[in-house]
Order: sequence, then structure tokens, then C-alpha cells
Amino acid sequence: MLSNETAVITGGARGIGFEIAKELVDQGAKVVICSRTKSDLEKALKLLNRKKEVAYGRICDVSSPRDCKKLITFAQKKLRKVDILVNNAGIYGPIDSFEKININDFQKTIEINLMGMVYCSYFVIPIMKRNGNGKIINLCGAGVGGGTLPKFAAYFTSKFAVAGFTEVLSDELKEKNIQVNAISPGPVNTYLNKYLIEQGSEKSGKEIYENAVKQQKDGGASPQLAAELVAYLVSPEANHITGRLLSAKWNPSEKLKNITEFGSNLYKLRKINEEQYYEKKE
Ligand code: NAD
Repeated sequence: MLSNETAVITGGARGIGFEIAKELVDQGAKVVICSRTKSDLEKALKLLNRKKEVAYGRICDVSSPRDCKKLITFAQKKLRKVDILVNNAGIYGPIDSFEKININDFQKTIEINLMGMVYCSYFVIPIMKRNGNGKIINLCGAGVGGGTLPKFAAYFTSKFAVAGFTEVLSDELKEKNIQVNAISPGPVNTYLNKYLIEQGSEKSGKEIYENAVKQQKDGGASPQLAAELVAYLVSPEANHITGRLLSAKWNPSEKLKNITEFGSNLYKLRKINEEQYYEKKE
């Protein structure tokens, strides 16, 4: 349970972010969610606050450092402390062969998917240090740790950087009782999949496009798996887990609970030695 815990979830008004916010609220936490869209925010807050007022919202574009600073200040005021930051906001960005995309769209993707979490982490860490504890969860994905994703250069690059940022931050903050992990939620039917289908098979590639259409029809992975993994990682039982990239599908919390020793390379990105893919045990 997460009673007395407080969390900020970026992009928490819909999709996977909303499921994470709902799970944390169900477990007793108070949350601040952000979105760029007022109507999304209002709809989500109504659902989260059905029983009692436990959720607050703020308009924020995570690609703006000013907005991120204001978001964290707002959360600190509303919640009195911030124990948990879930860096969830993200976009696919341009989908097409690299040389065909608009280079400004590549930059925008990095600004949202990577810099958004960099800014929010930067402003929240001093608060967590003062409190003597903290949990940061970064949403990864794009098959990082497995293969590459042609036609998704901006998205893949941003998510690869998310894994690197997670590892460095976790090393720096280990001694401060702040744990930093990344998770890959699996193929969940959200706006992202609809957007991919809208781009068409020529831009996204036949195989990826057909998989997306099939996923849309079959229902995709449950966002609840990702929400449960986040709830476990932010709980005190997971204080020994930091700097890892975990998959909601391959490393669900029930499995993680059985691993007592996290060796130095377990669930980290190490592809030079083929035996150490992140999803394999040492
Ligand atoms: P989604 O589009 O439903 O949700 C994305 C959220 O991010 C939305 O709330 C959106 O408003 C917000 N957002 C986008 N740009 C923003 C900005 N500039 N400022 C503030 N908020 C912004 O998609 P989702 O699938 O729920 O995605 C959530 C996260 O999960 C993303 O980081 C995504 O890359 C990751 N992910 C999703 C899948 C999947 O299959 N759906 C797979 C792997 C990773």
C-alpha cells in the first residue's frame, strides 16, 4: 500500500499514464497529473476523485523547462512533498525513413520524450533529497534492449537515451535513497497505436503496420500490467531495485518479488556481450 505517498505522473490524463495514476490512487497515494489538454485533465480528475479528493491537475508541456518547474512547484505545494515521479508523457514523433522526416519533428520528439523527463527529474530531485527518499520511473519502450525500430528513428533514439539517463541517475542517487528505474509497458492500445495506423503502411513499414492493425483488433497488452509494475517499484519492498530497465510483460512484479539479488548487469542494457540482454538473468 502507498498511503501517505505522493506522486507526479506526467501525461497522466489518458492511456498508460492514467492507469498508473489510478493504480497509485487505489493503493492510497495522492497524485498530481499533467496534460497539455484541459478537457483530458478534467475528465481524468473526475474519475480519480470519485471517492475523495486525492488527485490534482496542471496544464504542462513537458518540452518546456519552465512548465516542468511550475509543475513540480505546484505538486510540492498541493502534496507538501513529492515521493514519486513517473515520467510517462511521450509521443511517437515522425514515422518514416530518416531522410524523409522533417528534422524539426525529430527534435520535438527528443524534447518531449527525453528532455521532458530530464527537466522534471532535475526539479524534483532536490525535493526528494530533502525528504531523504524518492522514486523515479521513466517510461521506455520501442523494443530498446531487443532490436532496433527502423522508420522510428526519433522515437527509438529518445527511448534508448531514456535507458541511459535512468542508469546514470540511479548511480548518482543510490546513496541518497532515491531509486530510478525504466519500464517498457508492452504493446498497449492507446492513442500511440492509432497514430501509427494513421501514418499508413508505407511510412511505418508493412510488418509494423500489420502488427499494429492486428493489435488494435485483438486488444493489445493490458495497461494494468505496467501500472502494477510501477506500483511495485515505487513501494518500499523494491528499494533494492534501481537503474534497471524492466518489461511489464517479461518482468512482472510477481516475478521480480522472487529475485533477491540484482547483480550488476541484470536488466541493464549490455549488448556488447550478447549474453547480457536486459531481459535475461545473469
Ligand atoms: P498516449 O498518447 O495515450 O499518452 C501519452 C500521454 O503523454 C498523453 O497523456 C499526452 O497528452 C501526453 N503528452 C504528450 N506530449 C506531451 C507534452 N509535450 N507535454 C505533456 N504531456 C504530453 O500514449 P501511451 O501509450 O499511454 O504512452 C505513454 C508512455 O508509454 C509514452 O512514453 C510511450 O512512449 C510509452 N509506451 C507506450 C507503448 C504502447 O504500446 N502504448 C509502448 C511502449 C512505450
